[in-house]
Amino acid sequence: MYNRAWRIRPAVTTRMEPNALPVTSPLSALADVPVVRRKTSGRPALPTVLGGEQAFPGSLPFCRPTRPPLDEVTARFEPSYNAGILTNGRLVAELEERTADRLGVRRVVAVSSCTSGLILSVQAVTEGATGHVVMPSFTFLASGHAVRWNGLLPRFVDCDPSSFQMDLDHAAQELEGASAIMATHIFGAPSNPEAVEALGRSRGVPVVFDAAHAFGSISAGRAAGGSGSAEVFSLTPTKVLVAGEGGLVATNDLDLAERVRIGRNYADPGTYDSRFVGLNARMSEYHAAMALVSLERFDQVLRTRRSLANQYRRLLSCIPGLQVQRVDPADESTFKDLAMVIDPAVFGMTRDQLVTCLGAEGIETRNYFDPPMHRQYAYAHLHNGDLPVTDRVSSRIVNLPLYADLSAADIDRVVDAVYRIHVHADEIVGHLTAAAVRSSS
Ligand SMILES: *Cc1c(COP(=O)(O)O)cnc(C)c1O
Repeated sequence: MYNRAWRIRPAVTTRMEPNALPVTSPLSALADVPVVRRKTSGRPALPTVLGGEQAFPGSLPFCRPTRPPLDEVTARFEPSYNAGILTNGRLVAELEERTADRLGVRRVVAVSSCTSGLILSVQAVTEGATGHVVMPSFTFLASGHAVRWNGLLPRFVDCDPSSFQMDLDHAAQELEGASAIMATHIFGAPSNPEAVEALGRSRGVPVVFDAAHAFGSISAGRAAGGSGSAEVFSLTPTKVLVAGEGGLVATNDLDLAERVRIGRNYADPGTYDSRFVGLNARMSEYHAAMALVSLERFDQVLRTRRSLANQYRRLLSCIPGLQVQRVDPADESTFKDLAMVIDPAVFGMTRDQLVTCLGAEGIETRNYFDPPMHRQYAYAHLHNGDLPVTDRVSSRIVNLPLYADLSAADIDRVVDAVYRIHVHADEIVGHLTAAAVRSSS
């Protein structure tokens, strides 16, 4: 019974505005772009869906986790292993110190995952409160789960159409009776933390940041980690700093840090007289070893990601109907993901059709975050109210491959494929429609 139910996907419709095609030729708009300049003399090669050669024969994966050299991880882990201390030992303590230094915060508490860190942080700031938690619907599902595991209800608010961050005006309208605000730094771009903090302060509502994507982001000169009551980072394989599994709770609030430190160990202060409902959310020494070795190379990884992301952004912004995530010029994103929304009327096809075409080229993509939280089976019954911008962004968003071992040539090739698909959009849509009709009759 559940099996069927959770497969049901709520329909999110995409309206095509008629007659919105650009007057100038996309070819002329792209004439300055090195990757496509050579193509402007004639019609670019056919995309794979129309019989052309694949851009990536054998496929370009969406994500390749950044792994530190195994021998270095093993060497780092060995002393703990030999001492028989496998979890929450000196490597975890070292990771906490080094990351607190780097982020410029008073404390970091390492935990088993960002999800467990969020659960414990939300628990710490909402202790005894029963009001809802104001948060974006356009975020990863773990953000909402952390709220629900505390027995609290999320109140989902809309997002900005170009930065995809939480809409602060809408959040302000939903603050009456709230027990917390939880904002996500979407795809590693800071979520205007000063404004979110000011909003919370003006109404006496504590703020927790889901900083899963944001280890290394900078907002107006300040590293992510020090805003709100706590900021929680993720160290899973798809994130920018990798430990295998793991999370970091960064805070300047020593009481909160102590509470999370006890909370991660069943809320046992050492007397077996548990202080509250805790968790096992300890980080193992092996994961701390991997995180420490990853940290040594992290600046290089971040530089590469930023350079590849900026190459993507420069090239993609020349293709009509594509809008990459807006990042405030005063901020630096980690570019955990390269996200863009498709305007179907201008690009020539829908997001789903583009995804099909890119798949045929061997290019793996993701639709983060679609469905948005308020449309997911676990949350849709909460009758949250309409979130029109979130619905539109979710139905039009797509993420392209981005990781440190991609080359500049790979990025050129992905953009070139997107461009060829755009130029042949009319033929492709006709072809896909005919194929759909054939397969349904
Ligand atoms: C990945 C992610 C999480 C969960 O992180 P884990 O370490 O896997 O628990 C939470 N929030 C966001 C926005 C994420 O992308």
